[in-house]
Amino acid sequence: VDAVVRLIARPSICWQSVSDLTGSIKNEWSRSPGATEAEELVELSGRICYMSFGQRQSPRSNREYLRNLIDKGHESVLEHAVWTLEFSGITRAFTHQLVRHRIGFSYSQLSQQYVDHEDFELIPPIDFEKYPDAARAWDKARGAVHAAYVELHRALENESVKGSFGSETERRRFVNSVARQVLPNAVSTRIMVTANARALRHFLSLRGGIEGDSEMRQVSSALLRVMNIEAPGLFEDFEEVLWADGLPAVIARKR
Ligand SMILES: Cc1cc2nc3c(=O)[nH]c(=O)nc-3n(C[C@H](O)[C@H](O)[C@H](O)COP(=O)(O)OP(=O)(O)OC[C@H]3O[C@@H](n4cnc5c(N)ncnc54)[C@H](O)[C@@H]3O)c2cc1C
Repeated sequence: VDAVVRLIARPSICWQSVSDLTGSIKNEWSRSPGATEAEELVELSGRICYMSFGQRQSPRSNREYLRNLIDKGHESVLEHAVWTLEFSGITRAFTHQLVRHRIGFSYSQLSQQYVDHEDFELIPPIDFEKYPDAARAWDKARGAVHAAYVELHRALENESVKGSFGSETERRRFVNSVARQVLPNAVSTRIMVTANARALRHFLSLRGGIEGDSEMRQVSSALLRVMNIEAPGLFEDFEEVLWADGLPAVIARKR
């Protein structure tokens, strides 16, 4: 199963307001052709600080402007560019690590209480073709986990009707909550993530190149590919590389 990072929402500038703003100060903003709205939003936010429009505007292109912000460490300006992304084909192990990122991230994750997991999928953590003994152990564990979940779930479905629950929703929550206790970290999940450019950069720099964490590397690479379309100027100092195990990683590019 390959991790998928889908773009759901991106920054959109209200150009009428920008035109009202530059009109009110009687200074044109000379824009760079080809910059995305996310990149322009960050540039505009930076320019507001010094009102560097018209004659006060340096000849820097959008790309150069963003590079300068990052090089000087003025990364708070990057927080204005926010995206919503949906991650799927990922494990609970991955999302547990992801949600440790507190600043500049918002999350909504598939519920194991409301959605029963009888047909849950376990995502293999590595390419087991290279590890035949481990592959056998994995298959055994997968079968045992599936059998345990299904047996526990069905037993609880039958027996919980005798319990006293305020509603059917709470009875189902009880069944799913108990049964999920035997689900492993490898269980497939999906999560909606809203994050700003600064937070995403921090995530990629901490997580993208951890050699022994192949899932983290793959998701980081999928994320960088999306961001390179959305705002290449905000992520140009990261690059996707292929490591010896045949899997990608994200590393900081030398300037
Ligand atoms: C290789 C690796 C191994 C790890 N191993 C473990 C582990 O064994 N156990 C474990 O629990 N976690 C582990 N973590 C998770 C790690 O400790 C962080 O919780 C996680 O990476 C989020 O990073 P962060 O706090 O920088 O990000 P965010 O929570 O997004 O915070 C971003 C930045 O904001 C600032 N900040 C955030 N909160 C505060 C605060 N309360 N006070 C002051 N400044 C703040 C910091 O500068 C921080 O870097 C590991 C991470 C990595 C990369």
